[in-house]
Amino acid sequence: MARVITLCNQKGGVGKSTSAQALAAFLAAYGRKVLLVDFDAQANTTSGMGVNPRKVDQGVYHALIGRAPAHEAVKKTQLLGVDLLPANSALAGAAVELVDMRNREYKLKEALEPLRRKYDFIIIDSAPSLGLLTINALTAAQKIIIPVQCEYYALEGLADLLRTVQLINTNLKTRIGVMGALLTMYDRKSRLHRAVAKEIRRKFPGYVFQAVIPRNVALAEAPSYGKTILQYDPYSHGAKAYRELAAEVLKMEGLREA
Ligand code: ATP
Ligand code: MG
Repeated sequence: MARVITLCNQKGGVGKSTSAQALAAFLAAYGRKVLLVDFDAQANTTSGMGVNPRKVDQGVYHALIGRAPAHEAVKKTQLLGVDLLPANSALAGAAVELVDMRNREYKLKEALEPLRRKYDFIIIDSAPSLGLLTINALTAAQKIIIPVQCEYYALEGLADLLRTVQLINTNLKTRIGVMGALLTMYDRKSRLHRAVAKEIRRKFPGYVFQAVIPRNVALAEAPSYGKTILQYDPYSHGAKAYRELAAEVLKMEGLREA
């Protein structure tokens, strides 16, 4: 049964989508079957994987609302071992449609359940909010990864998110675990970055990945070619860091680098 991992942070532009795509790619490179779920109406992960969101007529929205089974919306990608459940702009209205539904907090979980047999990992990219859609992305997960940029407000954001996860676990009877915070866009020459990274490791010991993602231009360029960093520049510093992250995730899950 697939392990479901959601990348989340209510703060925008911290590297959720970049990390979701790169982690999926390197887990696949280690021989695991991965379903990447784009659960953000911005559809960055969909276009980043080389699929035009405007040409997606069946996507995660249809599965979520129960219009079609999720497997019908799954697409192969150019990357062996990575399938994509794409997003399109229809997802933007989904929160409103969900409000009146039964089990509205668990719709994504229900939609993905039949797919869990087919994959080793399901990686969910979520939107920068804490609304009903993101709650769905959280309840669907067994574990979460929180990408954080080493900036002044990062700690408060991280604490808020951890509190939200606790609230969800208490009120929605889930057992979402925190895999860890992932430091992204790190500039080791920046004194602020070094100080914030140190502070995050001090405040959340054992909950920060060893792998640190550097600021790396190849990571910013890859999506404009519809490619993951593994395809675009596998020897870049960014690729190396995400390979380490994937290895760490496998180890945490008690799996070997196949
Ligand atoms: P949103 O909250 O809008 O969904 P996000 O958290 O998914 O954003 P990304 O889209 O992954 O963040 O990254 C934000 C921007 O920073 C993108 O333009 C991306 O290409 C760039 N970026 C992400 N990680 C890096 C990195 N390590 N080095 C350089 N650029 C990066
Ligand atoms: Mg994103």
